[in-house]
Amino acid sequence: MSKRPMLQFVSTAKEMPLKRDADSRAHDFNEIYAEYAAEKAAEQASRCSQCGVPYCQTHCPLHNNIPDWLRLTAEGRLQEAYEMSQATNTFPEICGRICPQDRLCEGNCVIEQSGHGTVTIGAVEKYITDTAWDNGWVQPIAPREERPESVGIIGAGPGGLAAADVLRRAGVQVTVYDRHDRAGGLLTYGIPGFKLEKDVVMRRVEQLEQGGVEFVLNCNVGVDISFDAIRGKHDAVLIATGVYKSRAMQAPGVGAAGIVRAIDYLTASNRVGFGDSVAEYESGELNASGKRVVVIGGGDTAMDCVRTAIRQGAQSVKCLYRRDRANMPGSQREVQNAEEEGVEFVWLTAPNGFAGNPVEGVMVQKMRLGAPDATGRQSPEVIEGADYVEPADLVIKALGFEPEDLPTLWGETALEVTRWGTIKADFRSHETSLPGVFAVGDIVRGASLVVWAIRDGREAADSILTYLSQPAQVAAE
Ligand SMILES: Cc1cc2nc3c(=O)[nH]c(=O)nc-3n(C[C@H](O)[C@H](O)[C@H](O)COP(=O)(O)OP(=O)(O)OC[C@H]3O[C@@H](n4cnc5c(N)ncnc54)[C@H](O)[C@@H]3O)c2cc1C
Ligand code: SF4
Repeated sequence: MSKRPMLQFVSTAKEMPLKRDADSRAHDFNEIYAEYAAEKAAEQASRCSQCGVPYCQTHCPLHNNIPDWLRLTAEGRLQEAYEMSQATNTFPEICGRICPQDRLCEGNCVIEQSGHGTVTIGAVEKYITDTAWDNGWVQPIAPREERPESVGIIGAGPGGLAAADVLRRAGVQVTVYDRHDRAGGLLTYGIPGFKLEKDVVMRRVEQLEQGGVEFVLNCNVGVDISFDAIRGKHDAVLIATGVYKSRAMQAPGVGAAGIVRAIDYLTASNRVGFGDSVAEYESGELNASGKRVVVIGGGDTAMDCVRTAIRQGAQSVKCLYRRDRANMPGSQREVQNAEEEGVEFVWLTAPNGFAGNPVEGVMVQKMRLGAPDATGRQSPEVIEGADYVEPADLVIKALGFEPEDLPTLWGETALEVTRWGTIKADFRSHETSLPGVFAVGDIVRGASLVVWAIRDGREAADSILTYLSQPAQVAAE
C-alpha cells in the first residue's frame, strides 16, 4: 500500500463504515456497522491533522496515541498501529465499538470543531484490532517469568479483566471470581449484540484464559465464598463488582406484572442470544414480541432496551423521558439509531402511576423545563391537568443503577464507602480503606463507561504490582 500524506480533511469527507439500513437491522442482534475495507480505513485515517497538542488524546480516558496510530494506518503499517494501540488500551476493538466518541475523542477532534467532520477515530481503532485478530497478531499472554504472588479479582467486567491482563503479563497468579456463568460483566450481559457482538468479548476472555488467568464462575462472593476467605487466599484483592441495584420508582401500581427492570430484560435477551433457554423469555415475561412496550428513562440503558424491543418484534415501542432531546443523558447517535428503527420518543413526560395488573397502561404527566437548578440544568416541572394514559403491555424501568451495600453483604464494615454507597478508593492508587484491597470501575465511580473501567483496572494493576513488591509485603508472606 502506498504511503498517504496526512491532513487530507480538506479534500476527503468524513465517512463512517457502511451502516445497515434500519429495516434489515431491526430483525437481528448483529452489529449495525460493517468493517472498513483496508483502503477506506487508510483514507479516513489520513484525514487526521496531526495536531501538536492532540485534544482527542487528552479527552480519551486512556490517553491513546491516536494521531500516531492514525498515521500508521494511513501508511498501511497496520501491525505497528496495532502494537501502539494496544500499548495503552487493553480492549481497543471494544472501545472502538462502544465508547461515546462524540463526548470523548471525536467530540474534541480539531477538524470536527472547524466544521470538517471528525476523524472517525473509533471506527479506525476497531478496524486496527479486528485486523490484528484476523491476522493472528493478538496472542495469549506469555509472561517472561512466573511470580509466586496471587491476586484475587472479584468481578469479570472490563475493570476486572483489564487488571487481570496487566497482572498476568507481569507473571502474577490471577484468579477472577464472578457470580455469572460467563465472564465479561456488562459487556456480556448488559450491552446488546447490535452494539457489541458477543464473540468479540468471548475471544478476549479466552485469550486471558489461555494466558493463565483462572476464572471461577457461578461464584457469588458473599454467598458462595466469603470476602474474608478471598482475602485469605490471595496477596491482594481487587473489587470490580459494578453497580447493579436498579434505582427504585415510587408510583401507584408499580408492582404490577409486566413492569420489569432493564437489567433483567437485557440479561435475558443476551442469554437468548447465547442460545441459553431462559424461562422468563419463553413465558413472555421478559419478551417484547407482539407487545406495546413503554421504556422509562433517557440514558444508554433505556436506548438499549428500546432497540432490543424492536428486534424482539414489539407491536410498538415508546420511550418516556422527563426532559427534552437536548437534555437527555443518552448518546444522540443512539437516539438517532433508535428513531430510524421505529422507536417513538415522547419527550417531557414522566410516569406517575400504572393501570391494571398485569399492566395495561402508564399514567403519564406532561412536563415542561423550568428554571435551571444549582448545576445549571433546567428542572422538569409538571404541567397540571395534562395527564393521559399511555397503553402498555410491557413497561421497562431504566432509571439508572446504584451500588449494592457491599460492607453489609460481605460482613466487612471496615470497607469504607461514600455517601452514595460507592467504595471509597484513592483516585490514583485505587487502594481502599482495607490494606491490600483495591477497587475499580462502576463500584467506585457509580454507573460510568467501559473505557473508564479499563483505565482504572490498568492503573490499579500497576498499584498492586507496587504493593506486592514492598519489602513489608514479602516479609508478611
Ligand atoms: C445496558 C447498558 C449499556 C451500556 N452501554 C455502554 C456503552 O455503550 N458504552 C460504554 O462505555 N459503557 C456502557 N455501559 C456502562 C458500562 O457497561 C460499565 O460502565 C462497565 O461495564 C463497568 O465495568 P465494571 O468492570 O466496573 O463492572 P461490570 O461490567 O458491571 O462488571 C462487574 C462484574 O462483577 C460481577 N459481580 C458483582 N458482584 C459480584 C459478587 N458479589 N461476586 C462475584 N461477582 C460479582 C458481576 O456479575 C459482573 O460480571 C452500559 C451499561 C449498561 C447497563
Ligand atoms: S478508547 Fe474511546 S475515547 Fe479513547 S480513542 Fe478509543 S474510542 Fe476514543
